[in-house]
Amino acid sequence: MANIAIVGAGVIGISCAAFLQRDGHSVTIYDPLPPGEGCSFGNAGSIGPGSVVPLSTPGIVRQAVSWITDPDSPLWIDWRYLPRALPWLVKFIAAGARPRIDGIAKALRLLHADSFKHYRTLLGVDAGNLLHVSGQLYLYESDAAFAKDALGRELRASLGIRSEILGPDEIRELEPSLGPRFAKAIYLPDSGHCSNPHRLVATIAEDVARNGGRFVRASVRDFEQDAGQVRALVTDAGRIPCDMVVVAAGAWSQRLAGRLGLRIPLESLRGYHVMLPMPTPAPSRPLYPLAAKIMMTPMEHGLRIAGTAEIAGLDAPMNERRAAALGKIAKRYFPGITGEPISVWMGHRPATPDSLPVIGPSPLHGNVLLAFGHGQTGLIGGSTTGLLVSDLVASRKPTIDPYPYRANRF
Ligand SMILES: Cc1cc2nc3c(=O)[nH]c(=O)nc-3n(C[C@H](O)[C@H](O)[C@H](O)COP(=O)(O)OP(=O)(O)OC[C@H]3O[C@@H](n4cnc5c(N)ncnc54)[C@H](O)[C@@H]3O)c2cc1C
Repeated sequence: MANIAIVGAGVIGISCAAFLQRDGHSVTIYDPLPPGEGCSFGNAGSIGPGSVVPLSTPGIVRQAVSWITDPDSPLWIDWRYLPRALPWLVKFIAAGARPRIDGIAKALRLLHADSFKHYRTLLGVDAGNLLHVSGQLYLYESDAAFAKDALGRELRASLGIRSEILGPDEIRELEPSLGPRFAKAIYLPDSGHCSNPHRLVATIAEDVARNGGRFVRASVRDFEQDAGQVRALVTDAGRIPCDMVVVAAGAWSQRLAGRLGLRIPLESLRGYHVMLPMPTPAPSRPLYPLAAKIMMTPMEHGLRIAGTAEIAGLDAPMNERRAAALGKIAKRYFPGITGEPISVWMGHRPATPDSLPVIGPSPLHGNVLLAFGHGQTGLIGGSTTGLLVSDLVASRKPTIDPYPYRANRF
């Protein structure tokens, strides 16, 4: 059995560690932060096996132009950062062409379909209080807005994802917490949520530690390489030999891949959340008003309003104005919200141009696996990614076909 180094203790790295450990490997996880304190900390908690619509779709350019002139819109680009983001943006727009998105949706479906099942394997009894197959509601303020979103319905139908169309009365009956603003909704009964994504990662990490996994609070700076193999990690705690490496450093993975001689387009799609006191009555499931592109999820510590995408790189400070805007939008939808935000947060979604992660062997190395780039659906895809990485290390028939996620597709 191998001594495997995992770089990154987010939901992806920890899921990989847990499944590799089940195969008898000895795992060491490197991260300057405690488990789950990167992007995995503050996501919207949506677990949607039916989340198959990529970010880039036909018409994205027209939509984006109207958004980027409004500082409170779902997408914002820092003009100073634009020259650096441009090559990624060109690939992003190209990925939205129709023949490609059918294949992307299929690959997202493969990765997401058994998300709950594989998390249950990892969480054991804790799954009961963290995972909820509560359904999800996609909400539309007018019949015209509903009609415009035909692509999502078409993709979900083609992949056999169950859904129901609801009118205003059925929406209020299912979700009395909402104000009378919505004309139509799509109900996805097999989707749901995690009520504390940080605790999910921390719980799996505790299990890994109990079973002998080691956690090293250090940053990996480089790799010592020889004849297509990584022999050791170069960390800020010194040089550490290993048999195999899994790169799962989220939005920071591009820098590490670069040290390995790999050029993989990865951008941080910065997103925000604001925690509000739970309204009365409380919502029972994730609610997604499509016009605002925010997810509103009942969590252990309040109502989480999460979303927006901002392209400004890994180093720019948080934009408080965008976080505050989320709270204001939510108050439009929930008449029962009173009180001020409990906390705000910003995280870096690790985004590839085609909305699919990179999962699989490094094309240049015999002992390096890549597992990053899950964008807006890393919580959903985390558990299956961990299982797939362990299958590839074991050279057994993989749980899903890894081809769509190969590193050399760009
Ligand atoms: C606002 C928002 C809402 C979201 N909502 C959802 C949702 O509802 N459902 C969903 O599925 N997804 C959602 N996502 C996306 C999801 O959170 C991410 O895809 C996922 O957390 C990525 O996990 P990760 O493990 O790849 O990255 P991270 O959680 O960021 O972990 C990467 C880790 O690598 C470490 N690291 C970086 N560099 C190094 C280095 N050199 N050496 C060692 N360690 C290093 C970092 O410290 C970090 O801990 C959302 C994201 C945002 C921002």
